[in-house]
Amino acid sequence: MKAKPKVLIIYTGGTIGMIKDPVTGELSNVDFDLIFDQVPELNRLNIEVDSVSFEKPMDSSEINTSHWREIAKTIFDNYAQYDGFVVLHGTDTMAYTASALSFMFDGLQKPVIFTGSQLPIGMIRTDGKENLITALEIAAARDQYGGALIREVAVCFDYKLFRGNRCTKDSAENFEAFRSPNYLELASAGVHLQYHEHRFYKSENEKLTLNDKLNTRIALVKLFPGMDFNLYKNLINKDAIDGLILETFGAGNSPNNADFHSNLRSFINEGGVVLNISQCSSGFVIQGFYEASSMFNRLGVVSGQDMTTEAAVTKMMVCLDPENTDRSMELLAQNLRGELTDLPG
Ligand code: ASP
Repeated sequence: MKAKPKVLIIYTGGTIGMIKDPVTGELSNVDFDLIFDQVPELNRLNIEVDSVSFEKPMDSSEINTSHWREIAKTIFDNYAQYDGFVVLHGTDTMAYTASALSFMFDGLQKPVIFTGSQLPIGMIRTDGKENLITALEIAAARDQYGGALIREVAVCFDYKLFRGNRCTKDSAENFEAFRSPNYLELASAGVHLQYHEHRFYKSENEKLTLNDKLNTRIALVKLFPGMDFNLYKNLINKDAIDGLILETFGAGNSPNNADFHSNLRSFINEGGVVLNISQCSSGFVIQGFYEASSMFNRLGVVSGQDMTTEAAVTKMMVCLDPENTDRSMELLAQNLRGELTDLPG
């Protein structure tokens, strides 16, 4: 008889593990054991489940790069002992952490499945039980040769499995909290768990490596009509940052503002890297499609194509080496972990 698959749950916090304080009415996190008690069904799964918890489980608004490293290191150190990993995480920044891990790991050959919930697991109408059980089943799923079926970082939420670096939280109200606007789901959980294997990402490298050097000297600027570009001069400056992500209009467009362009030019000449992503959640940045984006090509701005904001921020943190900007720009433009779609036509 085949041994039961072993899955490690890493509990970081989030609504799934929160209870309401009877006095203040605020939601705050409880220990993992209390979550386990709420889901006796876990004992009926044909999976051996172990768990580790953040010392202080937290709302995901508190999560930063040191927590990404902690989660990644826990997976890295336990990689050989488990068939898969489930990360319980607040939904607010789950897509950032999932994206970050997708870029920090290379050669992942096992599933890392993020999940959480919109309602605490102790509440009668919770979505947490369903999400947790489905995430565990997916993390334990094997292919026909007995290896892991999913070999990437993914988010399991409301009966769907999304690529981690393709999804984004788009509702603070609905159980369907995540969307993957430019890439179809990897699996759907109906009566059966239906896997769409042709959409899976698989690394060509067999050996897992972890790059936990993250450059946080970056900024994200969202354009809006009428903005005063002079206000950004101290920010778009090599003394302040190494990399800038611009959230531009439509297919990557911006106003034809001479001050803004000369600010970008000096930043890039000094060794800064600029990445252009769109404010639209679906579609592509195509620099040069409109006159309003041609100058980005002339300035040497990298097109972020159809990357989500979460993927752009985390990819830049992982790839941005101020000592080697040419290589950083090359990496930003490449499809590293299935975060980009080939342009149609
Ligand atoms: N504020 C919570 C968090 O991100 C929301 C949730 O988990 O759904 O930690």
